[in-house]
Amino acid sequence: VVKMHEAMLWHKERNGIRCDLCARRCFIAKGKKGFCLVRLNKDNKLYSLNYGKIISVNVDPIEKKPLFHFYPGSSSLSISSVGCNFRCQFCCNAPISQALVIEQTGKVPGEEYSPEEIVELAEKNNCRSISYTYTEPTMFFEFAYKTARLAHRSNIANVFVTNGYMTEEAVKKISRYLDAATVDFKASADPEFYKKFMSVPSVEPIFDSLKRMKKQRIFIEITNLIVPKFGDSIEKCRKLAQWISSELSSNIPLHILQFFPNYQLLELPPTPVSTLEKCIDEAKKTGLRYVYIGNIVGHSDENTYCYNCRELLIKRSGFSVEKNNLVEDRCPTCGLKMNVIV
Ligand code: SF4
Ligand code: SF4
Repeated sequence: VVKMHEAMLWHKERNGIRCDLCARRCFIAKGKKGFCLVRLNKDNKLYSLNYGKIISVNVDPIEKKPLFHFYPGSSSLSISSVGCNFRCQFCCNAPISQALVIEQTGKVPGEEYSPEEIVELAEKNNCRSISYTYTEPTMFFEFAYKTARLAHRSNIANVFVTNGYMTEEAVKKISRYLDAATVDFKASADPEFYKKFMSVPSVEPIFDSLKRMKKQRIFIEITNLIVPKFGDSIEKCRKLAQWISSELSSNIPLHILQFFPNYQLLELPPTPVSTLEKCIDEAKKTGLRYVYIGNIVGHSDENTYCYNCRELLIKRSGFSVEKNNLVEDRCPTCGLKMNVIV
């Protein structure tokens, strides 16, 4: 039996409901679900079907989100529920992001948790933050919202790892409790790639969300997944970096991620390291101060260097911090303040 929880962010229209949670803004007729399959119109009221149904819960290093500049070296309780508003053909969490299992079984998988239990779990495991991640956090917005509000009372920070495809209303609503976000781009935000490989009609809402997050003073890091053959244009990567640098800030950390064959895109090879390095070079040329390589363990571009004097600030290997030379948030050598929350 699917337990239902009334949804936030929707309004009634003639003959149905309009969901205002993500940028798809689905029109949902009575008895139907939205594109994400986790929001149902029952008698012209919208319900979240995955509320409190936690499909994964782990204590992760915050570096895994990835967030390299937000309480480096801390632990983050990471949770998710099923569902996604994207259909990425290379999703590495497809069994939980693509909520087709609900269609097949009529059940929403996951273990029952209350927001209180999640916050307690975070405290018990000495987590500095709770991350809403693995799938798309907007898809379990109601649970994330309540948990985030409660977490703040216990001085625990909240992190969304998101595809950024939110409405203005959603960003506004969560912003009070959202401390940081990792916003994930694929293929340098190429609109054709988003249509073809992710079933996403437009990329503009992601850029809009980023601007709104900045305005709401949410700490931002950005990832860009470089997909061989179809999404590895150096020029497009440069353009995205340029946008971040000029429209947001040159202080925003950018992670250039290696693609790994997954789900339905198994015939592609992993992205060559040389391609990632070229992307990183281009991104740095736009003035971005912190550009990282992702998924290549042991590479020097996993480290943080002072953008002024090139001093090694944080040495990393994979998701672990091996050495942190920062003095509070400053370079120990030249004393310059870095964009790091400590
Ligand atoms: S969250 Fe997005 S995909 Fe799901 S019903 Fe609402 S508008 Fe549609
Ligand atoms: S947005 Fe993320 S979780 Fe959703 S399908 Fe794409 S890769 Fe998977």
